[in-house]
Amino acid sequence: MDSLDKLIVDYIEQQEGLTEEEIMIKAQFELIIPMQIISKFEEWKNKRRFYFNKDDNHDNYEYVSKLIREEMLEIIDDADFIVNTLVKHYYDSEKPNIGGKKLLWDVFGDVLYSNIKENTKGTKSCDECGDRFEPTKQRQTKCPSCQEKIKKEKARLRKIKFNEKKKNNQ
Ligand SMILES: [Zn+2]
Repeated sequence: MDSLDKLIVDYIEQQEGLTEEEIMIKAQFELIIPMQIISKFEEWKNKRRFYFNKDDNHDNYEYVSKLIREEMLEIIDDADFIVNTLVKHYYDSEKPNIGGKKLLWDVFGDVLYSNIKENTKGTKSCDECGDRFEPTKQRQTKCPSCQEKIKKEKARLRKIKFNEKKKNNQ
């Protein structure tokens, strides 16, 4: 039994209470299509450089990226699904697959970019710590925890000043 068969058998064993048909549909999207996406993309990662000609590198670069994208969309006509699968594969993995990440940005950079924009929509980056937060007031520039810290610090300084004043007046 090769490793793909074993993966599928293991997968089926984990699906309790589902009919055979339900398992097959689920396996398509959770296992089989993601594997096709990853293996096709890895294949392109390795062969892409053979498609470049030296004289006209720039145009060719874009042409090849487009070609790869079209081929990927033939597996499943859903760029988000493809991108999510590849992001999970390349960014959650322990191995630093720089070639894969680079190809992902070359081919699906627009999708990645709009996903990032969507994920950070309505949030700001804190002036103090850089964390993202959802502002509750229009001109809020610091996250709630930094705001709280600054408030406490200001109160502390006020208290010191007040005590000094009291001392001087005595
Ligand atoms: Zn902060």
